[in-house]
Amino acid sequence: MINYQAARLSMVDYQIARRGMTDLAVLEAMKAVPREKFVPEALRDRAYDDTALPIDNDQTISQPYIVALMSWAAELKGGHKVLEIGTGSGYAAAVMARLAGRVVTIERIALLAQTARTRLHGLGYANIEVISGDGSAGCKAEAPFDAILSAAGSRTVPPAWKKQLTVGGRLIMPLGPFGDQQLVKIVRKTNNDYAQKTLVAVRFVPLVGGTL
Ligand code: SAH
Repeated sequence: MINYQAARLSMVDYQIARRGMTDLAVLEAMKAVPREKFVPEALRDRAYDDTALPIDNDQTISQPYIVALMSWAAELKGGHKVLEIGTGSGYAAAVMARLAGRVVTIERIALLAQTARTRLHGLGYANIEVISGDGSAGCKAEAPFDAILSAAGSRTVPPAWKKQLTVGGRLIMPLGPFGDQQLVKIVRKTNNDYAQKTLVAVRFVPLVGGTL
């Protein structure tokens, strides 16, 4: 029987802290979320591998290091309102919900949205709202957001996401054609002025409804 708690602490140490992540709040959040509860039963013994893993409907749960990196880059703090596009298993939403005030997360595959909602509720996350639908236009009803994070990649930045950031807000997303994506951070400097920088090369599933 695997000691998941020990596996999790070791994952945070070897895969995240030793890659240079020094943000204690991010490290604590990663130590607290039981990733084994977010992967398919048959893959549970691989829950703390240094990789993305398949979930239902041909989608993936992101690599732990990338979840940590995105959460850090988004500068999540208590009281912040966050939008995630691509709930998938709900794992990244759970990590973000430990750092921010409230997380709204949108998933286009209804079955995944329902499973994630039930799972997150069961784990006691009261500050996450899972919406079933297309997130490529963001979530106008809940905007603006202090941070928007996408777990699906697009060739161009969906204009609605930029518009739904607060001034000072951060958008973290995989940008570029499938197979050649970079994780980027876009900061809304003023109403009309955005700054963009590249963080790292990544491999995410395509944003359906975006430009692939
Ligand atoms: N954050 C997830 C990773 C999910 S993978 C986790 O931690 O498990 C990306 C997800 O984005 C997939 O589930 C896919 O169905 C979803 N997706 C793709 N295009 C989308 C869109 N336009 N709107 C909402 N979700 C989308």
